[in-house]
Formats: sequence, C-alpha cells, structure tokens
Amino acid sequence: MQLYNTLSAEERAIMIDDAGKQRLTLSFYAYAKIEDPKKFRDDLFVAWNKLDALGRIYVANEGINAQMSIPEENLEAFRATLEVYDFMKGIRLNEAVEHDDHSFLKLTIKVRHKIVADGLNDDTFDVTNIGVHLKAKEFNEILDDPNTIVVDFRNHYESEVGHFKNAITPDVETFRESLPIINEQLKDHKEDKKLVMYCTGGIRCEKASAYFKHQGFKNVYQLEGGIINYAKQIEAEGLESKFIGKNFVFDNRLGERITDDIISQCHQCGKPCDNHTNCENDGCHLLFIQCDECKAAMENCCSSECLEIIHMPLVDQVRLRTGKQVGNKVFRKGKSENLKFKHSGELTDTALAEAQKPVDIRQKVKVKKVLLGKAEHYYVKAQVGQFTVENHELNIGDKILISGPTTGEQELVLEKMIVDGAVTSTAKIGDIVTFEVPFRIRLSDKLYKIVN
Ligand SMILES: [Zn+2]
Ligand SMILES: [Zn+2]
Repeated sequence: MQLYNTLSAEERAIMIDDAGKQRLTLSFYAYAKIEDPKKFRDDLFVAWNKLDALGRIYVANEGINAQMSIPEENLEAFRATLEVYDFMKGIRLNEAVEHDDHSFLKLTIKVRHKIVADGLNDDTFDVTNIGVHLKAKEFNEILDDPNTIVVDFRNHYESEVGHFKNAITPDVETFRESLPIINEQLKDHKEDKKLVMYCTGGIRCEKASAYFKHQGFKNVYQLEGGIINYAKQIEAEGLESKFIGKNFVFDNRLGERITDDIISQCHQCGKPCDNHTNCENDGCHLLFIQCDECKAAMENCCSSECLEIIHMPLVDQVRLRTGKQVGNKVFRKGKSENLKFKHSGELTDTALAEAQKPVDIRQKVKVKKVLLGKAEHYYVKAQVGQFTVENHELNIGDKILISGPTTGEQELVLEKMIVDGAVTSTAKIGDIVTFEVPFRIRLSDKLYKIVN
C-alpha cells in the first residue's frame, strides 16, 4: 500500500499537463476529537492518492486543516471520502477564486501536535466558545460601525499585499505572536468595542475568537470562511469589496487577486507590485515582492550576494549553504536589510496602481498546455508528421507544441491538417492526423495544445 509520494514535483507537473484535466484548488478545516491521527492520516492518504488529490494537509488530535488541488471530475468522489467521517459531513470546501493546475504538486499529509500553531494551551479556556460568524454582507455592515475594531490575524507578508480597509495588521511572522500583541493593544476596549477578526480561510479565527472571549472581550466576531469565502460571496452577490488587493495563499500561486488595487511595492525598486516570489538561491529562499524588471535584472534573486551565489558551480553553492553566514537566512519570511521597500505594521489603504490584467502568478510553468496525443510516423521528404489524437480535439488555428527528448520544444500554429486522406478543420479523439512540420519528428514526441 502506497502511503507516501513516489514522484518529484517536476514529474508531477508534467503528469498533470499530460492528463489535461481541469483541477480545482480548495481548502477546508474541521476541529474534532481524533483518537488516532496516524491512522486517520494513512486512511486519508490511501483514499486521496487514488483520486489524484494533491495538497498540504495537517492532522492532529484536534482536527484537520487542508489545502488541496483536486481533479474537477473527482470532486464528488473526494467529497464522499470526507463524508465517511461524522465530523466532516456537509463540510464547506472553500474553493479558490483563481484555479491553477499546479497549485500543489504533491500529496503531503502530516501528523502534528496542532492543526494551527497558535501557541495556546487549549486546556486553559473553552475552545468551543467562539465568536459570531459573519457572512460577507454582514461583515461589510459591521465594518461600517464606528465601534468596530477590525484585526487581520495573518502575517506581515500576507497583509502587505492585501487587507481589509482600516484593519490593524500586526507586524508578526507567525499567528501565535499576534495574539498577545493584540490582547495588549486593545486591553482598554474589551467591553465597549466590537472586536472583528479575519484570516485567510477562517481557521485561525476559530481559535483566536475563543481566546479573546476568554480574555474578557465581550463582542467578538469573525469572518466565516475567511477572505477566500468572502471573495466568493462578494462576486456571487455583487457586493462591494472592502478588502483591497490580493489574498496571499500558501500554494504555488502565492496569491489570488481580489481587487485590481496594487497596494504594495517591489521590495527592490519601489515600483507598485504585489507579486511574491522566493529567492532563486536555495540557500536563501527569502519570500519577497519583486517586479518583472527586477526579476529579469536580478535573475529572481533577493540580493547581489544571492545573484553571485547562483552563478557558482553547484558544489560550491552546497558548501556555502552549510556555512554560517547564509544558514540562518533559510526560509526567513520576507525580511532582509536588502529590501528597501518592504512595509509591515501600519499599511496603506490606498492603491498605488491598478493591476493591468489577470496577472500571470504562475511561478515556474509559464506555458499552459494540454496533451493531445503522440507521434506515429514521420515522412522525411514531405516533412510531415503523423499523430494519434488521444485527448481533446484539435482545430485549425490551434497553437500547438511538439515536445520530446531530441526534438526539444517546438511551437507552431496549425494551418492545415489531414485526417483519413481529407483536409479537415477539426480532428477528434481517436483520429490519426497528419500535418506539415518544419523539423523532424521522433516517435517519442508528444503533441500538446497550448491554451491561453
Ligand atoms: Zn522592481
Ligand atoms: Zn536571496
């Protein structure tokens, strides 16, 4: 029985493209009493691996917290794997606003002490005595109330690219740091103000709201399903978005746009920008905001120091990584003296610029392609290749990609094709199609259609 990943992220990315299936990015969580988290974890892995489900999931005695990518056609089957458990019957799955087939490339389910690192001792307060859940419309209304204090329970690199207007955005790197800070900052308003909180998907507020009620706050409210669910509702109900900018997410997309407002700056040149990236130097991996121009000039690096390192032979890079001076930078979350335009703590509510188009937030895979079929033949004289179409139909005018170990990647626009000896405009699944190519096809070549 397979209980762990056997493929690398790169292999998985190719398989996902080859499968050519639409995937959904979604998240969910549930607090429950789980007696045997290890067995629960293994059972989920077996069930989800069969469905080609990917993602990052934490399980603990206290419940489950999952961020996942699921083939669209398996969604109902996936839901059925949750319904097996009483505490997940009818659970709300937070679907992402923007889907990306590569949001997750592995299925990783970890058993943890807690599903969210909140640093709280749950035995000291009633974790079930939570705040009032608010839907988007109610949340908008309460934000208009002058007695409301709205607090962002995410980290500095999350609130920097997007947050609710007038929100307190603590300058913290982890959720657990923010709890005592807010408790201290608002200690004189435990009774007279409405403490309204939000986070990415709602899970952090489930615990934070109970904590603040225990601390003596009388009026505690939380955004149900977090920003992800808020974004869905404002779109569906045509409501005004009081959230500005982008919602940072922890998958390969690193964020989904909620409004066109860009409220942050490229950390290197100061130009309005809200695209996060990780420094190319694996010994650094700093999370920071970088515009396309700086990305090109700095080759995706956070500093000239890192730029120098990535040009070294790999053995030297590895040797450097074990050294002290960069070792402590690994996985630092977005703070470095090299980044002159980094902001945290008090943030602006004013847009610096407007996002031009749905920005390509994909980090690694630039071309979105769908596998159509494989090469069957090549006619040297006529420079014609023959392919069987196995997935999706092929149309005249389609941009196609022929790819193989020897061929490399060759892009062309399909101008004319022949099926069963006749010129045709559409080739269906099962057809054998021939068309001209300006290079030599190999039998190992695959035919892809490039989408968008
Ligand atoms: Zn820049
Ligand atoms: Zn770096």
